[in-house]
Amino acid sequence: MWTLVLNSGSSSFKFALIDPASGKTWLSGLAERLGVEAASVRLDSDGKRQTHSLNGGSYAEAMRLVLAELDALGLRQDVRAVGHRVVHGGSRFSAPAPITPEVLEAIRDCVPLAPLHNPANIAGIEAAMNAFPGLPQVAVFDTAFHQTMPEIAYRYAVPEEWFRQHGVRRYGFHGISHAFVAGEAARVLGRPLAELNLITAHLGNGCSVCAVSGGRSVDSSMGLTPLEGLVMGTRSGNVDPGLHDYLARVSGLTLTQITAALNRESGLLALSGLTNDMRELEEATARGHVGAKLAVGIFVYRLAQGIAAMAVALGRVDGLVFTGGIGENSATVRAATMARLPFLGFKLDESANAAAARGQGGPISAPDSLPALVVNTNEEWMIARETAGILALTPR
Ligand code: ADP
Repeated sequence: MWTLVLNSGSSSFKFALIDPASGKTWLSGLAERLGVEAASVRLDSDGKRQTHSLNGGSYAEAMRLVLAELDALGLRQDVRAVGHRVVHGGSRFSAPAPITPEVLEAIRDCVPLAPLHNPANIAGIEAAMNAFPGLPQVAVFDTAFHQTMPEIAYRYAVPEEWFRQHGVRRYGFHGISHAFVAGEAARVLGRPLAELNLITAHLGNGCSVCAVSGGRSVDSSMGLTPLEGLVMGTRSGNVDPGLHDYLARVSGLTLTQITAALNRESGLLALSGLTNDMRELEEATARGHVGAKLAVGIFVYRLAQGIAAMAVALGRVDGLVFTGGIGENSATVRAATMARLPFLGFKLDESANAAAARGQGGPISAPDSLPALVVNTNEEWMIARETAGILALTPR
């Protein structure tokens, strides 16, 4: 059974046709700037890349191009299911869900919790239902993995009515990636996942750490929204909850403007005054750029604090996993982070750390250290596996 995996944004979608058993990708690509003149679809298969311009093309047109390519490759009849990444499943979903009208309605109910992401995910589901009538469609949630967090980790100390009536609690995100790399780490360490207490750090444009005990999330740095926690590319992470009121009074900014700035104009970008891109920040730091050095310093400091907080959730720590664009590629960030964590038992092996930066992942800790390792995440494969898994369990 091959699964078409769709990850839909507001004006773009990523797709991949994956064998859930092996992770082999037959066709993948990206449709972007949909609805504007520069709309395009990139298709990668068999090491060859084609790019089609769609001139203002819609989501549905882009999907038709993907279908035409599946036909040209003779693959359409092999697609057995479509798996969708859905960002917010609220408290309702603790596992992937085959899409029914009720499930779609429940995803719609979560729109207030993820006003940018869930509508785009719903549009992707609807386009795929039109393009593949009759094929099972499955929603795989970024929040579902964290539904195992205990109440002590997911409640905020706020009026109970906010929690009961408005769902104000911590949900956690990046669950697909945290779950995938925890499983891979257990494989690399040669130990059953059920026995391991792991801290996983997903460091991409968005960043979060997760405490994974026996394969289940018991805490995460992200909360009600993906803004909580660590410093990220353009997101602030934690700030004083009094900031909004103070800033609105002294600057005249509206709540909407403040929230937008905390999401898009903060983080590494704001601290460096240069860029949200870690690779560029490392290059700028090497040239002596003061803002870049400060940004990376604060990023690492807050990351190490986040890891230490996950150690509290776990009690006993068996390993630390780095993943995401920064976690997989930045030997500097990993080294600086581990240098702040000797009290947890972590010590870096510098040459292993340098080797892991060349793309293949692997252990980066010294022999007398708790294991720390780099695992390349593969969210598409995880979505394909979850999709195939839930369909096998669901009678049709
Ligand atoms: P997304 O969250 O959008 O999927 P990625 O996981 O691709 O993003 O991560 C993007 C981040 O990874 C950027 O900050 C980028 O600079 C960083 N990154 C990618 N390659 C390197 C590298 N070789 N060295 C340092 N940082 C890198």
